[in-house]
Parts: sequence; C-alpha cells; structure tokens
Amino acid sequence: MMEYQKIFVSMICYITPLSVVLYVLLFHTLPTKVSAANYYVNFVAPVIVEKSKLSYGNSANWKYLRKKIFEVQGDRCLCCGKKSEQLHVDHIKPKSRYPHLEFMIDNLQVLCPECNMKKSNSHETDYRKTEHLVSLVREINNNKLLQRKYVYDFKVLEKLANKRFKAEMKNRSYMQVLPIV
Ligand SMILES: [Zn+2]
Repeated sequence: MMEYQKIFVSMICYITPLSVVLYVLLFHTLPTKVSAANYYVNFVAPVIVEKSKLSYGNSANWKYLRKKIFEVQGDRCLCCGKKSEQLHVDHIKPKSRYPHLEFMIDNLQVLCPECNMKKSNSHETDYRKTEHLVSLVREINNNKLLQRKYVYDFKVLEKLANKRFKAEMKNRSYMQVLPIV
C-alpha cells in the first residue's frame, strides 16, 4: 500500500468507532429532550445573572473615585448634613440595576450610613445641591482622567448644574429686592 492509503485506512479505523461512540452517547445515553423551561433555568438564567454582576472597574478605580467625590462634595452627608467618620459613597442610580454607572462620578453622592440605609437600592434620590453640581462640573473640566474614564454623561450634568444655578441666582436677586423692614 502507498503511504497516503495507509493514512486513509488508519483514519477510517479511528473515526468510525469514535463516531459510533459519540452517536450512542449523544442520542441514547444522555437525555436529549430538554424542555424549553429547563433549558432557560439551566443555561440562560445563569448567564443573565452573571451579566448583572458585570463590573466595569476595579478597587483602584473605586479608590480614586472615592477620593475625588470627597474632594468635590466635602465630608458631610448630602442628605442630613451630618459629619461622620464613616461616610458612604452612594450610587444615586443603584449599581445592581445600573452596573455600567458604578464607576461614574456623575452617579455618586456622599451619604452617612443611616441615610444610605434609608435610601436603599429602590430609590434614586439625588441629594446633590447646586454647589455640589457646579463644583463637580468644574472638577471634571479641569481633570482629563475624569473626563476620559469616569463620567457617564457630562452634557446632562452640565445642563442640570446650569439650570439649578440660574434658578438659585434668580431666587437670590428676588430676595435682595424685597424691602428691608
Ligand atoms: Zn445623613
């Protein structure tokens, strides 16, 4: 026999029993009928759960953001104004439902543990005051790293800060016009 004929015959010898074993395994030994519901529970659901645990950053990113947010918002709870040793950095939109906003500085606010507990994961209350928004906009404008990596929507943030700032200015001038008794 020629060399290539030998190779061909040996291939047939290996492949034939292998495919028989595979056939028996796939269609006779292993259960082949998996219902759609079972398929969802066993294969689709775990993937979805895993996806919701997606992380877009690491502890070093978080450390940097924590430092920045305290610089911008100070060391008081934005909700009750209390000074605390153990302030939390809260995700305005909870990270369980918005994993892509976990490492975005425009989604963070400083809260004390009590206010953070009260807010929980179901509320999306934004406690940031005009001064916090304005100083955050200023910080982002001066910080290339923040701009590049840690801001979700700067235009929305800027718009909100401007709107609040203008409203506050309007109120102040109105107060000044009031006659002093
Ligand atoms: Zn508080």
